[in-house]
Amino acid sequence: MSTLDGRTALVTGGSRGIGAAIATRLAAEGANVALTYTSAADRAASVATAIEGLGRKSLAIQADSADPAALTAAVDQAAEALGGLDILVNNAGIFPTASIEEVTVEQIDRTFAIHVRAVFVATQAALRHMGEGGRILTIGSNLAERVPWPGLSLYSASKSALLGLTRGLARDLGPRDIAAVLVQPGSTDTDMNPADGEHAGGQREVSAYGEFMKAGDIAATVAHLAGDAGRFLTGSAVTIDSGTNA
Ligand code: NDP
Repeated sequence: MSTLDGRTALVTGGSRGIGAAIATRLAAEGANVALTYTSAADRAASVATAIEGLGRKSLAIQADSADPAALTAAVDQAAEALGGLDILVNNAGIFPTASIEEVTVEQIDRTFAIHVRAVFVATQAALRHMGEGGRILTIGSNLAERVPWPGLSLYSASKSALLGLTRGLARDLGPRDIAAVLVQPGSTDTDMNPADGEHAGGQREVSAYGEFMKAGDIAATVAHLAGDAGRFLTGSAVTIDSGTNA
């Protein structure tokens, strides 16, 4: 028997990168997994097909996390199709970079809508379907706690908000025996942050191992937290960044 046998999960932004790896890993551990995406319909469908190939249920739902109504409807649709919701993974994200003189109000609103407001909205929707033993797992960033380069104030501020949100969720949801944990990755090879990208060299230099992680490395930690091991980590942040913030 696998650790997540019979559990049900929704991963936002599951069509590519870290989200796709999490969705597939949760399924490999036994869960039925839905995922959302905004534009990459083909890639989302491939992830769902791969999950079905593991013998699990899956569905890909187009839903912009910046749209509260669409996100709520996606959570409800996932819970209905899978028969409840045990694990919510708030993963969808963007990577705005701009100096403080240049960042626009539109960028601020969209970034906070996707990184922060969406976590409130998806969590509220998920809680209507979630029972004891549930998990709210949110993907933050190691840049929430240290900012080694300029141009990151907006991204870092939005990811820092998740530290307070996760602590608050732990207090609100402890009585329901639901755990909330924040996962803070460092440099991970994805479309957002390719290991051969322009700024990759500097990121390698500040990593203790001198290398990027793979999406599957983050997925392994998330799968661990989705199981029994995550319960007493509620309210905490797990930084998986190859020693970058050490
Ligand atoms: P990618 O850009 O590779 O993938 C982003 C995923 O999020 C895609 O599935 C995309 O869907 C989806 N997405 C983007 N915007 C929205 C939206 N508005 N609504 C719904 N889905 C959306 O990013 P990563 O995999 O690298 O990042 C995943 C998470 O990890 C993010 O929260 C990011 O901030 C965080 N992170 C990443 C790090 C890294 O080095 N890669 C380091 C630290 C944190 P679609 O395919 O349809 O566009």
